[in-house]
Amino acid sequence: MSDIIYTKVDEAPELASASFLPIIQKFAAAAGVSVGTKDISLAGRILAAFPDYLTQDQRQSDDLAELGKLVKTAGANVIKLPNISASVPQLVAAVKELQAQGYALPDYPETPSTDEEKTVRAKYDALKGSAVNPVLREGNSDRRAAKAVKSFAQKNPHRMGDWVADSKTRVSSMSGNDFFSNEVSATLATEATAKIVLETADGETVLKDGITYPAGTVVDATFMSGAALDAFLAEEIASTKADGTLFSLHMKATMMKVSDPIIFGHAVKAWLAPVFEKFGEKMDALGVNPNQGLGALLDKVAGEADIMAAIEEVTSARPPMYMVDSDKGITNLHVPSDVIIDASMPALIRAGGKGWGPDGKEADTNCVIPDNSYAPVYDESVKFFKENGKLDPATAGTVQNIGLMAQKAEEYGSHPTTFEIETAGTVKMILDDGTVLHSHAVLPGDIWRSASARKAPIEDWVNLAIARQKAEGTRAIFWLDANRAHDAQLIAYVKPILEAQGVADKFEIMAPREATRASLETITKGADTIAITGNVLRDYLTDLFPILELATSAKMLSIVKLMNGGGLFETGAGGSAPKHVQQLQSENHLRWDSLGEFCALGESLTFLSEQKGNEKARVLGQAVDAATQGILDDGRSPSRKVGEPDNRNSHYWFARYWAEALSRQNSDPELAEYFAPVAKALAEGEADILAELAAAQGPAVDLGGYYRTDPVKTAAAMRPSATLNAIIDQ
Ligand code: NAP
Ligand code: MG
Repeated sequence: MSDIIYTKVDEAPELASASFLPIIQKFAAAAGVSVGTKDISLAGRILAAFPDYLTQDQRQSDDLAELGKLVKTAGANVIKLPNISASVPQLVAAVKELQAQGYALPDYPETPSTDEEKTVRAKYDALKGSAVNPVLREGNSDRRAAKAVKSFAQKNPHRMGDWVADSKTRVSSMSGNDFFSNEVSATLATEATAKIVLETADGETVLKDGITYPAGTVVDATFMSGAALDAFLAEEIASTKADGTLFSLHMKATMMKVSDPIIFGHAVKAWLAPVFEKFGEKMDALGVNPNQGLGALLDKVAGEADIMAAIEEVTSARPPMYMVDSDKGITNLHVPSDVIIDASMPALIRAGGKGWGPDGKEADTNCVIPDNSYAPVYDESVKFFKENGKLDPATAGTVQNIGLMAQKAEEYGSHPTTFEIETAGTVKMILDDGTVLHSHAVLPGDIWRSASARKAPIEDWVNLAIARQKAEGTRAIFWLDANRAHDAQLIAYVKPILEAQGVADKFEIMAPREATRASLETITKGADTIAITGNVLRDYLTDLFPILELATSAKMLSIVKLMNGGGLFETGAGGSAPKHVQQLQSENHLRWDSLGEFCALGESLTFLSEQKGNEKARVLGQAVDAATQGILDDGRSPSRKVGEPDNRNSHYWFARYWAEALSRQNSDPELAEYFAPVAKALAEGEADILAELAAAQGPAVDLGGYYRTDPVKTAAAMRPSATLNAIIDQ
């Protein structure tokens, strides 16, 4: 096993790796540090799941499973880049592409009937949504902006949209009967095995059996009423029309891969309600599944003139919709994974409460977030900025995050225990000793789910928070609502640990709404605070605050302190930026910013020096930090426009600053001597290298694939400077 694993992923970050990884490997080798890769790309995971359909040399090892074992060891040191959390349309597209490349994979069975189809479907479903992070995150999360990144943002504040007091933008949530209000929760005194059953007039159906929980696990159960959701959506469509705003829905269909596509499907049905009333059966027969979005629906009914006419009629009576791409007519409801709440809401808030309408213009927006568990964070932010005006990134302090994440904590581990109810009855969660832990009366269409959080991760999380608060000395808030069932159980863990360690006076506990206001007030004054949150808010807040403070979450330090001693270093909190790939393909410009990779690399090398007592790794890591600082200070980050420096240019500068820092330092003369000629060659080659990089931009690029690109074509595209390659490869 290599000293450091650098993951092979998808889309923009993977293109960036084609340029950056050879540089890392070259520099690390000089310190005797090996950097290997493991393939966790969507295409790689698909191939690993179907060995029986592939020839011997097409088969691929299950790298994700291997990494899953590695992260449970003290020796783990993994740099994890963002990967695709596939929606069904993405999965289907990836399979098609691989088939065209000669891999005899089975089609994705939309409606599996035979046993074989059911097995295939189950294997594909396991690859869907957030299938990677939960396997790797064997620790809790520590996310913050590196000092250099934060001070750069203060010195070079980004543009923020103006907030006005009479903005009509609002956040709308259900008035009850949602996951928030129906939640019940209990902490198990002993270890237990549980089953989930649905009792109906006709008897009992086992929904899930053999779920094991160690002692001390917090187990929640809740449901969202399908009927209440439908009534709420219909009301919001009407009130959006009445107040002249854009209608928008914000979900997390990737991470919440069972519940959120269903809720999304309800919205598609509500939007086209009269069409479903009239043509429901015919659309069923055509294979329409509203959970897959309006885009897939339109594809299926395109040949049916009567349905198309009805859709047009209904659409013209609807309020204008918030658009993903108004030029191409792609609406909020086209693809379930296009609008993802943790990115979409902060972008809208940063823009002064504006979304894009069908006319290509910005407008006030009704942000529909059905469930009340976390919607108050956005609602309170909107209210705060209406009252106080936009945040000033030049003077704002920062919100760091310590997130409970380990071992699939909370809602983000709930896919196997989420069910769409088909028959009226009672869902019960029953322990092996016969105790009925939780019970809910449900109706057809209700979405029931159970989530859990284990004792060891919770305790580790509280301790991580204590350590971070001690290091920073700032205000620190547990974002927990004493009136929410699950949060009350967590508070019962948090308080005794704080008291036992004598630090209770250093922490506050507040519900998400109050914590949002307190945090915004704190950073508005220029002070810093730590948000100590559960898993969902970890995800949401590490986009929301960075996007307001730094313009993007891609530049965050994202460290996972693995519970068994290893380290997992995530690169930024952003995703894989599909739009960036499109731009590279059409005009050979990659605007992806590798700052997240730079920060993670520095942390990983520093961690390695402690892990393996490798002093050279420490020197290498310190030089990475100097190089990152250089990139920021000298403005070497990629531009968004073709013809201007892009991702590849930033890698050249990074290599050069890195080599210069190594040749300048005197704690390791051997490394200094080794890197002096490298730094010199990089400096002397500047004019040639920049000219070669500039000459590459402009024309369209063929990568030989999207989900599985051709490595030779990709390397040719991403390493177009012969002069730079000669220095790196020698
Ligand atoms: P995204 O990839 O973060 O993209 C949103 C926008 O953020 C981009 O279009 C880009 O803005 C900007 N951005 C993000 N990272 C950037 C970087 N390093 N440099 C410059 N700009 C950057 O979010 P998404 O479109 O919601 O998700 C795309 C895919 O990533 C999905 O499959 C999702 O599931 C996955 N994802 C993975 C992870 C993870 O593995 N940890 C996390 C989040 C999302 P501009 O287009 O304006 O340049
Ligand atoms: Mg996020």
